[in-house]
Amino acid sequence: MSTSFSTGIGSANGAAAAGGSRNAPTSMSARMAAISAVTNWRPISPPLNFNETPAHELFSSNVFGSAVMKARLPKPVYKSVMKTIESGAKLDPSIADIVASAMKDWAIEKGATHYAHVFYPLTGLTAEKHDSFLSPDGDGGAIAEFSGKQLIQGEPDGSSFPTGGIRATFEARGYTIWDVTSPAYILENPNGTTLCIPTAFVSWTGEALDKKTPVLRSMQALNKQANRILKLFGHDDEAFVASTAGPEQEYFLVDRHFYFSRPDLFTCGRTLFGAKPPKGQEFEDHYFGAIPERVLAFMLEVERELYKLGIPVKTRHNEVAPGQYEIAPVFESANLATDHQQLMMTTLKRVAEKYGMACLTHEKPFAGVNGSGKHVNWSLGSKSQGNLLDPGDTPHTNAQFLVFCAAVIRAVFKYQGLLRAVVASAGNDHRLGANEAPPAIISIFLGDQLTDVFQQIKKSGGANSSLAKGTLTVGVDVLPPLPKDAGDRNRTSPFAFTGNRFEFRAVGANQSIAGPLVAMNTIVCESLDYCATKLEAAMASDADSLHAAVQKLLTEIINECEAIIFNGDGYSAAWHKEAAARGLLNLKTTTDALPMLAKPDINALFTKYGVLSTRELQSRLDIYLEQYCKTVRVEGLQTMEMARTLIFPAAIRYQNELASTCANLKLVGYEFDTDTLDKITELVKNLQDAIAVLDKTLAHHDADSLEAEARHFCEEVVPAMAEVRKYADELEGMVADDIWPLPTYQEMLFIK
Ligand code: ADP
Ligand code: MG
Repeated sequence: MSTSFSTGIGSANGAAAAGGSRNAPTSMSARMAAISAVTNWRPISPPLNFNETPAHELFSSNVFGSAVMKARLPKPVYKSVMKTIESGAKLDPSIADIVASAMKDWAIEKGATHYAHVFYPLTGLTAEKHDSFLSPDGDGGAIAEFSGKQLIQGEPDGSSFPTGGIRATFEARGYTIWDVTSPAYILENPNGTTLCIPTAFVSWTGEALDKKTPVLRSMQALNKQANRILKLFGHDDEAFVASTAGPEQEYFLVDRHFYFSRPDLFTCGRTLFGAKPPKGQEFEDHYFGAIPERVLAFMLEVERELYKLGIPVKTRHNEVAPGQYEIAPVFESANLATDHQQLMMTTLKRVAEKYGMACLTHEKPFAGVNGSGKHVNWSLGSKSQGNLLDPGDTPHTNAQFLVFCAAVIRAVFKYQGLLRAVVASAGNDHRLGANEAPPAIISIFLGDQLTDVFQQIKKSGGANSSLAKGTLTVGVDVLPPLPKDAGDRNRTSPFAFTGNRFEFRAVGANQSIAGPLVAMNTIVCESLDYCATKLEAAMASDADSLHAAVQKLLTEIINECEAIIFNGDGYSAAWHKEAAARGLLNLKTTTDALPMLAKPDINALFTKYGVLSTRELQSRLDIYLEQYCKTVRVEGLQTMEMARTLIFPAAIRYQNELASTCANLKLVGYEFDTDTLDKITELVKNLQDAIAVLDKTLAHHDADSLEAEARHFCEEVVPAMAEVRKYADELEGMVADDIWPLPTYQEMLFIK
């Protein structure tokens, strides 16, 4: 066994094995060295000590939040900032200098040398541009400076971020603009700290180039329509109604030694090859099982880092697949939750390295075991009214709840295509509809009790026109108390009511939650607008008619939209058939789903509420199609390279071994059973043919639109990759283990 790996053993630095097995003396030594390093892993940093600084003291210690601002800002300035944060009031730019100066002093006390405008480009990643606080003072020295102008606006060279044609590179100006509603924070590094300021990223013409801007716009639009409904129910305090989000993040952890021995994992985030291990997740012994010690140590450090950033992480547990875990925070306002979710993903990855592991947020890192999703729990509420999707227990609040709930049902029914489009990605294509995650068909799980309530409404509505107004009103009043807990959980539904919120489960683990939140906020905004308009009209002619009008509205909505409600098994073939009969969309792939963004009703929706202009929407469609093509292309190239340079050589070495054994035995007069040699020979031939086909599909260049290009990748390249994998995985099950170059599923998932 190679000694060159011994330095990697006992250190968390998995990069010792970097470069993959091809640089190793023999493939065996790379794999075996990885295994040995994994089993010999020892922590490199001293254990955390929560006695020294208790978690509650750590919480938000690196955040320029309201407590710090209250202590450091003049009262009127503090009040003005808080008004913007809490009620969405316009930001008064004249306060910027004062805030900037307090922020700088605070940051420097915390060791900051630089500040960074953090923004969220359409790649779905997080981008930062760092600038030093120091400026030359003219006398050979330097002073720390940070003006209101620098706080409010930055100008990163945005030319390398995708813009979908909004901005030509010769006019590469993109601006970052301070988002006061998401607090600045300190990011620590062993060599110093940086003041990070969350910002929106827009072109010089004011068009959104990022994920944040539409989140903020959609929240503003939703607030307006939600308050119209609240007013009808007698709540006219106009407290800001914010959408809330609680994202549950699933992820895998694998040892870095394995990670770097798998070029597919470190370039594509998922394995492109790998035979099914003898034991997978069938024993269901991992889910909620005891957390392995190294993993728990990692989780504790992740949580400590997130506490410092004011991210309210709450839940941790093992997930269904071996090596799979989940982390979830307490919900927050949608915009803040989105920024915090991005920070959570980067923190998971950063801390995993320290513990000698790689954190995989890909939707399907391993075929044959569960993939990773990001359930986005969503609701809306205000300071004065609380959670508007909480059924409550009085009939009066029931009626209000039912209007909000019906608005969501109508929104999901009407805009199912959009909801499918915002969770479309090359990674999520492996998950949606693969019998483990929600199907690609969007439907709503309401639970039996709530479904029953809507059925009652439907019935009394259907029988009704002759009923006296009083009876109708009673019809609403006598509704049964609504379920606090939806009772039965349905894990197969892409969009489920879970007692006091909806849970959008089709979102992929690797995605920003911004897109799904923008979609939910905007479609519900449109639905609330529709409801408010109807109810206001009824009340304009008869001020006492609210309950009758609500009854009528709910009946109409349920009659029109009930096809979207499905409480059964979303994985079953019967549902696919029934969904088709109900006329629901079944958009199986990203290439089917993304073009929904180009539909006139989607464009009308986004432009009407000022969330995205036609150009912004079109640019997003282009960028996401392009991203899809790029992802599949890289996967295709990586498949080809690994098949040619790792798998094929291993296969022919083994073939050669078998062939020489055969020849030698014949020489000494023995018969050799050539079954294995025949099979290997056949597989090698098939592998070569499949590689040739993949090569050809990847060379294709004549698509005349992005959509056609994406279709080509989806319909030609993806199946060609699967074909190569099929033969490679079969070979893995036959080739001598000491020749096989790649860490196996068994090793990656089970050796810790
Ligand atoms: P489960 O795995 O049972 O779905 P978790 O406790 O893992 O539940 O996650 C539930 C998530 O839903 C948490 O992030 C929680 O804060 C969030 N949540 C609860 N109430 C709301 C709400 N009103 N709006 C948005 N998210 C919510
Ligand atoms: Mg959940």
